[in-house]
Amino acid sequence: MERKVLVICIDGFGPEYLECSPTPAIDFLIESGGMVTGSAVVPTVTNVNNVSIITGELPNRHGITSNYWIDRDTGKEVYMESPEFLCCETILERAKKRGLSTALLTSKRKLLGLLDAGAGYRLSAEQPDSYMLSMLGSAPDIYSPAINEWLFRALRLVLSVKKPDLTYCSTTDGAMHRYAPEDERSVEHISALDRILGIIVEENPGLEIYITADHGMSSKTRGIDLEKVLKERGIEARCLPVIKDRYVVHHQNLGGASYIFVDNQEEVMEAAGILREVEGVELVCTKSEASKMFGLMSRRIGDLLVLGEKDVVFGDFDSVDEEIHVRSHGSLHERKIPIIGYPQLPAECRMNLDIVASMGL
Ligand SMILES: [Zn+2]
Repeated sequence: MERKVLVICIDGFGPEYLECSPTPAIDFLIESGGMVTGSAVVPTVTNVNNVSIITGELPNRHGITSNYWIDRDTGKEVYMESPEFLCCETILERAKKRGLSTALLTSKRKLLGLLDAGAGYRLSAEQPDSYMLSMLGSAPDIYSPAINEWLFRALRLVLSVKKPDLTYCSTTDGAMHRYAPEDERSVEHISALDRILGIIVEENPGLEIYITADHGMSSKTRGIDLEKVLKERGIEARCLPVIKDRYVVHHQNLGGASYIFVDNQEEVMEAAGILREVEGVELVCTKSEASKMFGLMSRRIGDLLVLGEKDVVFGDFDSVDEEIHVRSHGSLHERKIPIIGYPQLPAECRMNLDIVASMGL
């Protein structure tokens, strides 16, 4: 097999980011291949979806249900970013077993650690190796939109020098957290990636290219403190922001999804009833409902999953309900993502993870 395949996850790349920016290279891929507006996995956060894309599986198979999690057995709160949480093989591992060469490039270092099983060459722009530094110069700060442009320049180099059979490349959503799609700084960010993508297409005839996203991004104006809501009604619980990671500047750990761990198991249904009445809460699912509805692994989620309305985030606030201004994700409203395939879009591509699921590896 002489296939060369590149899968790109543009972090936070909701369809409106594509609509608002001139992208001649992506337009060429869409016209020659195809595009559908598909769906990300819920909760719509980075780790859950990157792992879904790279394994072609839902969280009930791969085990990554959150960016952040309480291990009830140990009582410890942990970032779900270590490969020991992964319960199935990534496509890089499957390709490696077949003797194919692989590469993994990420902007965020945390993703490199989570996804790097089976990666022959691996690079994070946040902590690049000496080879890439000597070729491209130092990388911009992880919170700078220019970090993704640097990553794409590294991707171009890896494709032309190392020529891997299968490459997975994942950017960071710092620019989307900061800028609305129509903001000129966002347009410049997307255009810069598109320019390099155009060169990659020219330099690699025959390369299959798939582009998708882990989630979209929405403007959020209301913050709700679910722990305070429950406490006022006499229920002690820990309400975990599913979005929480080490890149706090992006979102201040405020997102549209929360896992609720109720101290007293006999109060779970009462807590669900209370939360369902909160204005701004769109959906409250029990553990088994959430597992069925969204393909989650029940032993790795809270007693309840709470999803917010479009303009709502959950987190720790001084009062129960606060006005805030942040661009973030996590809810059902950041589910829409583009799926682009070149020279062909796989048939039956409805979710971002269907790209790899349909790849035949
Ligand atoms: Zn993300």
